[in-house]
Amino acid sequence: MPEVVVVGGGNAGFTAASTAAHRPPGAAAGKVGRGHGGRQQLLHRGGHAHRPRRPGRSGRPGRGRPPARRQRGSALLSRGVSGRPGQGHRGRNDPALTAVLVGEAGPTLRWLHAQGMRYRLLYERQAYRRPDGSHVFWGGLHVGNVGGGQGLMADHLAIADRLGVRVRYDSAVTELLHQDGRVTGVVAHLPDSEHREIPAESVILAAGGFEADPDRRERHLGPGLQPGSIAYQIFDAKLRPMLRTEEYDMPGVSVVVADTIGDLAVRIGVDPTRLTATVDDFNRSIDRSVPLDPTVKDGRAAHVVPPKSNWAAPLETGPFYAFPVTCGITFTFGGLRADTDGRVLRKDGSAIPGLYVAGEMLGGLFSGN
Ligand SMILES: Cc1cc2nc3c(=O)[nH]c(=O)nc-3n(C[C@H](O)[C@H](O)[C@H](O)COP(=O)(O)OP(=O)(O)OC[C@H]3O[C@@H](n4cnc5c(N)ncnc54)[C@H](O)[C@@H]3O)c2cc1C
Repeated sequence: MPEVVVVGGGNAGFTAASTAAHRPPGAAAGKVGRGHGGRQQLLHRGGHAHRPRRPGRSGRPGRGRPPARRQRGSALLSRGVSGRPGQGHRGRNDPALTAVLVGEAGPTLRWLHAQGMRYRLLYERQAYRRPDGSHVFWGGLHVGNVGGGQGLMADHLAIADRLGVRVRYDSAVTELLHQDGRVTGVVAHLPDSEHREIPAESVILAAGGFEADPDRRERHLGPGLQPGSIAYQIFDAKLRPMLRTEEYDMPGVSVVVADTIGDLAVRIGVDPTRLTATVDDFNRSIDRSVPLDPTVKDGRAAHVVPPKSNWAAPLETGPFYAFPVTCGITFTFGGLRADTDGRVLRKDGSAIPGLYVAGEMLGGLFSGN
């Protein structure tokens, strides 16, 4: 019987499985320590292969133990992720969970790196070189995985292989087994069988968010988040070279080009008189005495509604470019309630023995942003 079953094979699932592999024998899933004491099985819906469990030899040797939860100062406990009380989350984020996220993100990244995850600085995203040679990274986007999402999964697989984690692909978990209020395993639809019961001492749910479910999107995020809602980002010939290659020159990116704003409007199906007037107003409202500087919040504002507070640049040199854009949901993070050891909580606040949650299936961290 595996000691720990992890449901879901994304970043959270593999991280949870690797963490569980460092537990002392017999310890609960949320407790970590040195050594490879447990047997872990990771059930993953999707994929094409089935890897048997074996003591793997590939990958880099792991070092150290996973960061364990530590008590943090009360200042952090009363604040949002963004640093001010309730800011960005309508005050709905769980302060204790938030403190763990903020306090442990750095150590966790370093621990994952020591296990073999490879990271690099994202110079091609919103990074600008300062005159002194250093870089500023806007939007908190400093670090990414080497090889992007594919690299992330390749690294996770190598680590799981080395730690002896058994990965089962094409295996959808359909039910939880439970006895006397304790979760005792899962029922999974495996490729080689109808449904099979897999008993476990602990189950970690890491099956992702609900962004791909139209009904839940509408129920929890509101109506209107549907395909077909399009806006256009407009740039001129002077701004075009400043756009990030990764986002604006990728295969499949659409762009409409015209020599005048009026022609551009016609091509994207917008009233040419109104768009020309809007762009003229925008250009006139910019305080051009302030120099444009992407390495600082330069205060070069366009005094329009809504105001553009920094980095305002006029659209006046053809050709003009219109990029159609739409909204996307990158994560939902609205899921199960848990304590800071990842134990899933009942409505009355008590922990369900044997059941843990990780990643986007966890609720209580983000709201309204
Ligand atoms: C376009 C895009 C860009 C993003 N950019 C960033 C970024 O730059 N930085 C960042 O930090 N985050 C980013 N995110 C968010 C980030 O990718 C997710 O928050 C994160 O990958 C979630 O990881 P997870 O392991 O919790 O869930 P997932 O990666 O969704 O993994 C869940 C897994 O569980 C499986 N599963 C589901 N149900 C079952 C079941 N019943 N049985 C077995 N398996 C099941 C699924 O098939 C899936 O493989 C982005 C997301 C998107 C969509």
